[in-house]
Amino acid sequence: MSGTLPQSTTGRQPVEVHAPKKDQTATMIALVKHHAGPELQLDSNRAKPVCGPRDVLVKVKKVGICGTDRHIWEWDQWAASRIPVGIVTGHEFVGIIEAVGSAVTKYRPGLRVSAEGHTTAWADYNSRTGNAHIASDTKIIGIDRDGCFAEYVCVPEENVWPVHDSIPDKVAAVLDPLGNAVHTVMAANVSAKSVLITGTGIIGLMAVTVAKAAGASRIFATDMDPKRRALAKKLGAVEALDPRESGWINEVRKACRGEGADVLLEMSGAEPALTQGFEGLRNGGTAALLGLFKGPIKFDINSLVIFKGCTVLGVNGRKMFETWYQMEELLLSGRLELNDIITHEFPITQFKKAHETMITGEGIKVVMNVG
Ligand code: ZN
Repeated sequence: MSGTLPQSTTGRQPVEVHAPKKDQTATMIALVKHHAGPELQLDSNRAKPVCGPRDVLVKVKKVGICGTDRHIWEWDQWAASRIPVGIVTGHEFVGIIEAVGSAVTKYRPGLRVSAEGHTTAWADYNSRTGNAHIASDTKIIGIDRDGCFAEYVCVPEENVWPVHDSIPDKVAAVLDPLGNAVHTVMAANVSAKSVLITGTGIIGLMAVTVAKAAGASRIFATDMDPKRRALAKKLGAVEALDPRESGWINEVRKACRGEGADVLLEMSGAEPALTQGFEGLRNGGTAALLGLFKGPIKFDINSLVIFKGCTVLGVNGRKMFETWYQMEELLLSGRLELNDIITHEFPITQFKKAHETMITGEGIKVVMNVG
């Protein structure tokens, strides 16, 4: 998923809905939301999942901790309303297929894979017309069904993404959030354009390197954290600005013919950043919005969208599987800089330290090693 919170279209689902069966005779270690409160618990006797006919069973190697996992860890209002107690969390992973269901035709044990975390029955309008990422029946692993913070995870065959040999495990574990960045950047069509990125959290920083690789002419980034601003510059931003300092919008405008950036990528989910970002966007520009806001916000749509004549795109998840192919091509081009973004790796037994490293901001993208 993303630093974004998945929206429930169907309300809270019990954990067993769409979930794979369990092998009561074999156990594994897993991180479980053990109670309706903060943190997770390591369960060393979790029943191992069993493939349904069209599922694959993956032995997990590495997993990424997402912004969504932070909400689940902290047990905020969203998590309390959405996450079933007892679920195995996590949705970003790489691993090796260990077994396949009886009706699986495309994949065999031994293949190194990641997977799209959004599942659908491929039956609604959007699923059948190339937009399965916004299917009305979307379920998400690690949220609606058991996830990948475990030795084994079961996913539908359609969701499997075979990982190219030249992509290291550490990167393959974070294809899900990288896909959010790729989806946002590609939706906004940044080639030969000036780009303003508001908010350089994990996905915002990924968006800097993706936008550069996708041919953005100049990238301006904003963040309140000086470390992240410095990293944004290292990754290719020509300017990284503190949004609390007055005058930064004029600086961006001045640098862009006095009119503003061609493209805005909103990655912060912060109310003031949205207004400022649109103020820094030129008339007729394109804004792609990925950051999720805590709730309804105040925004001057008359002057910032209608009179500006700009195009506004809502971005959710990753296109299945156009984004994944674009991401693979960008990775194979060698032009993405992810080493400075994936800052920490911990064994899964140190899950507490791993989550805290991400939550305190000491680390950016944190990966846990499972097997
Ligand atoms: Zn994620």
